[in-house]
Amino acid sequence: MSLINSSRTDPNKILPLTYPWARRHYKDGVANNWTPDEIPMQDDIEQWKSDKALSDTERRLVKWNLGFFSTAESLTANNIVLAVYSHVTNPECRQYLLRQAYEEAVHTDTFIYCCDSLGLDPEEIYTMYNTIPSIREKDAYVVDLTRSVFDRNFTTEGDANVQKFVHDLIGYYVIMEGLFFYAGFAMMLALKRQHKMVGIGEQFEYIMRDESLHLAFGCDLINTIRRENPAVWTDAFKSEAVELIKKAVDLEKIYARDACPEGILGINASKFAEYVEYIADRRLERIELPKVYHTENPFPWMSQSVDLAKEKNFFETRVTEYQTGGSLEWD
Ligand code: FE
Ligand code: MN
Repeated sequence: MSLINSSRTDPNKILPLTYPWARRHYKDGVANNWTPDEIPMQDDIEQWKSDKALSDTERRLVKWNLGFFSTAESLTANNIVLAVYSHVTNPECRQYLLRQAYEEAVHTDTFIYCCDSLGLDPEEIYTMYNTIPSIREKDAYVVDLTRSVFDRNFTTEGDANVQKFVHDLIGYYVIMEGLFFYAGFAMMLALKRQHKMVGIGEQFEYIMRDESLHLAFGCDLINTIRRENPAVWTDAFKSEAVELIKKAVDLEKIYARDACPEGILGINASKFAEYVEYIADRRLERIELPKVYHTENPFPWMSQSVDLAKEKNFFETRVTEYQTGGSLEWD
């Protein structure tokens, strides 16, 4: 049995499990369930409407991130449903992909909710992937990187194609979800730490928690495929993967500077670039490639945000966790 190209895999027969990690990620995803309208936006609306609460730099940063994420989320959903799902035939991995697709729908919903609440011009926000070069470059890079898997005639038969598939998975999971989302996360959470736009900040926190699972699944997928097909993990391919990630880091740094040219209270703009380097090294390690940057984490509070979100909500008595935690206890 193997993850791709197994003639013995029946896509409908999930038990016994071949890949318990896929099932675990699914359960973790379900345990993290949330929807954007559970988060009140009243304070954000007041801050956004007042001309004193936010500086121009902060407004720009919020808009840039809404502009990038609003369309990046549907790009990701399309990747999963239209490309990855058809090639990964293992049933427990498919179950996870369906969960991930739902979470991407929740994220898309979040940006609709944010635009509606703040009364932003949807025409402006939803065309930023075209009108803002630093956003357009990131999207174009991912679309270009993942061309083979979107080709209708593409199959994963043979080492050359398996290698292409792993290449594209690195594009989706490591670069798009694992790198291109993270300068934005750091900016929005930095703003939240200064008690600005805390509703949107909290939504970004939830999204980041989901994305860290997507990334974990993606890396397990990549690592399993390459272990099952060791011939594709050549030195040449490894260096190619490192180069792809380095180029992505450059694009993400350009984006970070463009979204936040002057930095925000206490955070110098170049800190976001350092954070991107730090994140890139973590991603490289995750798929067993050598680190490139050796940069220290300038924002240690970022990792706490992923871990603490759930506990914090528990104490704030938000219903999300109660519902999912208690739904199976019928007495
Ligand atoms: Fe997402
Ligand atoms: Mn995702």
